[in-house]
Amino acid sequence: MTGISKHLAKQIGSLLKDPGEVLLVTHTNPDGDAIGTMLGLYWFLFKRKQNVNMIVPNEIPFFLKWLPGCETIIVEINDPDNARKLIRSAELIICIDFNESDRLGSLEEEFLKARGTKILIDHHPDPGNFTDYVISDVEIGSAAELLYNLIAISGWSHLIDKTIAECIFTGIMTDTGCFSFNSSKAGTYLIVADLLDKGIDKDRIYRLVYDNYSSDRIRLLGYSLNEKMVIIPEYGVAYISLTKNELQMFNHVTGDTEGFVNYPFSVKGIILTALFIEKEDHIKISFRSRGDFHINKFSEKHFNGGGHKNAAGGESNLSLEKTIEKFVNLLPLYSNELLNE
Ligand code: 5GP
Ligand code: MN
Repeated sequence: MTGISKHLAKQIGSLLKDPGEVLLVTHTNPDGDAIGTMLGLYWFLFKRKQNVNMIVPNEIPFFLKWLPGCETIIVEINDPDNARKLIRSAELIICIDFNESDRLGSLEEEFLKARGTKILIDHHPDPGNFTDYVISDVEIGSAAELLYNLIAISGWSHLIDKTIAECIFTGIMTDTGCFSFNSSKAGTYLIVADLLDKGIDKDRIYRLVYDNYSSDRIRLLGYSLNEKMVIIPEYGVAYISLTKNELQMFNHVTGDTEGFVNYPFSVKGIILTALFIEKEDHIKISFRSRGDFHINKFSEKHFNGGGHKNAAGGESNLSLEKTIEKFVNLLPLYSNELLNE
């Protein structure tokens, strides 16, 4: 079922009884699980007539903007003064879908100073010690599923309506790659069955998330695969890199490169993929792996990052070429692990 003990659920339950001003925060470059879980919890607390605000550090990708309540989320880079004020005044701060405070980016400093009681709801390995309470289960495929379990174990399932169900389903669907990974437990499907019973239209949600891109984005994908994918068959590695110029050529908007990192896996024998994206002042990297290759550890050690065993991210302050060179030069050190997969 879930790693949430009855005791912990009870403690959280009493914190949520009369919490005063609640603030929900999630990680930089928020994804479907981050935003879905945040909004699911928002509507749940809203139904309980609680005073709740939400902050994300930076932009929400357009394919999540249809989610109910998304327009209510404060994006710190657009409204820094308001975001800081809310962090200072919150009595309860709930952290969603991240395991280290530095994932809050520009919000971290104010967050660490905040006086409110802090709770973590997360499913990444090795949660850091930056909150007063920790609800963490690495065996669970998404923070959204964990939220569902928390609500259920606390005896509040009846409060899950269609709106909350849509948010939770979006988190589960996106963090499991539409049920293609981290989704081999029956419990996940029992939850999905319940969400369907609440009236969600899963096909509509799928379309809104995955069939909502611009034509430029699909051409950028074609270009990335045709012109930019490099395969290193001797290590089972493939990577794609995109410069700022190339992104501009295809009128890139936030969220357009989502999922690109997974495509090289359809080539036989690939067990590690990377996507290097040139940003204004750094290189953002997405990593994916298969089997027992712990890509989060690799990313933590070499690219100042982290994440899950098979899906991680990191960054580099070197140039794009130098970052790729560093990555390629590391591969021989991991040849045993890579070739044993
Ligand atoms: P994505 O490649 O989709 O951006 O991220 C994959 C996973 O890695 C997610 O679980 C995300 O939270 C984590 N992740 C992405 N970027 C970073 C990073 O810079 N630092 C850490 N610690 N985790 C990251
Ligand atoms: Mn997640």
